[in-house]
Amino acid sequence: MDFKITSPKNKAGLLKAMQEGKNFRFGAGYTDLLMELKKQEETSFTIINLAQLNDKTFTEINTISGGLRIGSLATAAEIVNDKFITQHFPALQEAAHSLASSQIREVATIGGNLCTASPSGDMACALMALEAQCEILSANGKTRTVPISGFFTGPRKTVLQKKEVLRSVLVPLLEKNRKLHSGFIKVGTRRSMECSVVSLAYHIHLDRNDSIVHAGVAIGASAPTIRFAKTACDLISGNNLKTISQKDKEEFAAKVVSYASPITDIRATAWYRKEVLFNISKSIFE
Ligand SMILES: Cc1cc2nc3c(=O)[nH]c(=O)nc-3n(C[C@H](O)[C@H](O)[C@H](O)COP(=O)(O)OP(=O)(O)OC[C@H]3O[C@@H](n4cnc5c(N)ncnc54)[C@H](O)[C@@H]3O)c2cc1C
Repeated sequence: MDFKITSPKNKAGLLKAMQEGKNFRFGAGYTDLLMELKKQEETSFTIINLAQLNDKTFTEINTISGGLRIGSLATAAEIVNDKFITQHFPALQEAAHSLASSQIREVATIGGNLCTASPSGDMACALMALEAQCEILSANGKTRTVPISGFFTGPRKTVLQKKEVLRSVLVPLLEKNRKLHSGFIKVGTRRSMECSVVSLAYHIHLDRNDSIVHAGVAIGASAPTIRFAKTACDLISGNNLKTISQKDKEEFAAKVVSYASPITDIRATAWYRKEVLFNISKSIFE
């Protein structure tokens, strides 16, 4: 394999590398890319190394009007330690915390987690429940924004075109002082360094009487792509989180499972994945 690495330091350098590059891949934390390169069939290509890019829209986590902008190069560790995310988006903080090991979390980026488009991406699953938007920068300097529900087009596939890079993720903050019931549940075959067998992210807004005002629920490792369980969310809207009936909990869980089309693989059977998903879906009310 013959590849060269270019490390743009600013946006102008990045755009130039993207315009001039014929056959290139981006590298951020390299925790997925190194594995991908082992399977790479092409023998000659360039890696555009994003790790030295000094551009705040890629590197920083900032509040913006209506929510939060997370640069695609923000690491899982930075997300775990961000106070605003911990307070307003617990599902994302917990998902970042559950990713791999502390060493990997120091380098693994949120952009890499999205762009690798694994059905079991932990931060990607949380961002789906949070109904995030993906901000994409093209080699000609233009940007476009895609809702995360339209970002994944298949396993390991996204809407990103050849000369496009993910710049940042925009997470909407519906209401600052709203009560939240938000979290991330990951079931693996062991406690750490493990991709999910099944995962579930939920982000539920409550009024002061614990009635559900808005719900976002997403499932990971259960289908070819991460999925937003829209009908399950609609079903529980208006219910009271504390007094929701057993029947409604089970109906909700069944609706979540209806979005799953899992495979049987070395880590779990399709049947087991659906059973676990049903049970963890019900458990979010307990
Ligand atoms: C031992 C181990 C355990 C792991 N455990 C977990 C886990 O528990 N949960 C989990 O979700 N993941 C896990 N992973 C996968 C990985 O760590 C994450 O997906 C990580 O977030 C990827 O980020 P990265 O910065 O390393 O991406 P990279 O490896 O640098 O890139 C991944 C892919 O995204 C592309 N890319 C990166 N950034 C951009 C961008 N800004 N724009 C366009 N394309 C881009 C790259 O070209 C590449 O195709 C694990 C990996 C390993 C090696």
